[in-house]
Amino acid sequence: MIYTTKAQAKRLTGISYLGSVNMTTKHQKAFKYNELTYSLYLAPAKMSGYEVCPMRTKECTKLCLNESGMNTMNMEDDKINRSRIAKTKLFFEHREFFVNWMFDEIKSTELKAKKLGYKFSVRLNNTSDITPESFYLHVNDKPVNILQYFQHIQFYDYTKVPKRVELLKKYKNYDLTFSYSGHNLNECHTMLNNNIRVAVVFNKVPKVFWDRKVIDGDLYDMRYKDKKNVIVGLKYKRVRSKLTKNKFVIEL
Ligand code: SF4
Repeated sequence: MIYTTKAQAKRLTGISYLGSVNMTTKHQKAFKYNELTYSLYLAPAKMSGYEVCPMRTKECTKLCLNESGMNTMNMEDDKINRSRIAKTKLFFEHREFFVNWMFDEIKSTELKAKKLGYKFSVRLNNTSDITPESFYLHVNDKPVNILQYFQHIQFYDYTKVPKRVELLKKYKNYDLTFSYSGHNLNECHTMLNNNIRVAVVFNKVPKVFWDRKVIDGDLYDMRYKDKKNVIVGLKYKRVRSKLTKNKFVIEL
């Protein structure tokens, strides 16, 4: 498949759009900060048949944010999940088509932000944990990834993949927050000691944890605005599948 326009892509795939802008509750908070965040929601874990979360645990899979917020309200028809599965399949099966479409969406959203006088950022992994280097297309026969293509745009992600932080040295426009899974305590301490912030989910967010300052990570999502040596406290959100005993959510 060769991408030509957004309208052609919609027609061919039956998918209305790839990324959304300030649509979910957490991304709507960006409005308060005069910012638009273009966000991609894929089908997490192996829901689409393709694995998008290489370091996931059973617990985080069950508690995954994919099951919270807006999606909780759509239990009847699972429209949102079906759309995320279709996007994920498109990503794996027609990579350059997907990426060309996405680049077009990013360009038009950036333009919109400019017209509004807003800042603009991109979060690729909202319900996935894929390296941005996998989002590439060929320019003059050479692969160019999304961080190289949009060097002037701020990207940010959360990850459970320790190796991913190596990208921070390669790309100035990429920000990462490491995520506590309940099973990666040592990695979290290593990250903090290396000036990489760590996100932890709590039943109630404390001021200090592991002897580190905890910031309220629910005020906004644009983590790149935060200091690097802090813990980002996130309040546990209601999900479809209840998991009572787990290490992922810190009970205080
Ligand atoms: S790694 Fe993140 S996106 Fe993937 S299943 Fe776990 S919580 Fe969800």
